[in-house]
Amino acid sequence: MAARVLVIEDEEALCALLEYNLGREGFEVAVCRNGEEALEYLKEEKPDLAILDWMLPHVSGIELCRRIRAQSDTREMPVIMLTARSEEEDRIRGLDTGADDYLTKPFSITELVARIKAVLRRARPTLAGDIATFGDVVLDRETRRVRRGEREVHVGPTEFRLLDCLMQRPGRVFSREQLLDLVWGRDVYVEARTVDVHVGRLRKALNRRGDRDPIRTVRAAGYALDETYAAANASAAAGRAQPNGLAPDAGETA
Ligand code: CA
Repeated sequence: MAARVLVIEDEEALCALLEYNLGREGFEVAVCRNGEEALEYLKEEKPDLAILDWMLPHVSGIELCRRIRAQSDTREMPVIMLTARSEEEDRIRGLDTGADDYLTKPFSITELVARIKAVLRRARPTLAGDIATFGDVVLDRETRRVRRGEREVHVGPTEFRLLDCLMQRPGRVFSREQLLDLVWGRDVYVEARTVDVHVGRLRKALNRRGDRDPIRTVRAAGYALDETYAAANASAAAGRAQPNGLAPDAGETA
């Protein structure tokens, strides 16, 4: 899934430029022309990042950034502020407001894309590139390979997409219906139970010899990657003096 970027800017020419260039970089781009429009948009949609112009009509960029930070459902959304001003004081005010980064106009698209990727990498490590990691599970979108520790995990295309989907939002609970939409697509008719079957296959491929299961079944809700798993795995990796259940078993492939 491409990262979704919301551009909040009133200058037509800059909007068109950003929409075109960020689209070419593989982002899904939406544009809002002012703060009110953006606030309405954010009630319905959850972009991965917002590019917010300082100078907007009516609600200023700073005020909008404050509101984004004040609302629980947008609080975590990374914000990159754009401004024509370059004074240090403004920069500090911008960061005080809760912006994650700050770019002074005029800027190059290359610079903006680099900043977007850096901010996304910090906010959502799994969105930034072709390689997603979760604990010792590594998913490579370019080669379509999955590894767990040293072991190569063999998964079918559906299980791959399923894992990719879960890895984009570790901890988030996906309902079966959401997974059907995201993995199989809206136009395909598949029963919700099919999701359980493929999650079962994915688990079978991922887990060996009593490995801890990174996937959490949430009763009556759906599936999620277990955030406590990645944390436990990180601390295990930190003190890798004693081998545990995560040792590679190269002999087994599914
Ligand atoms: Ca503007």
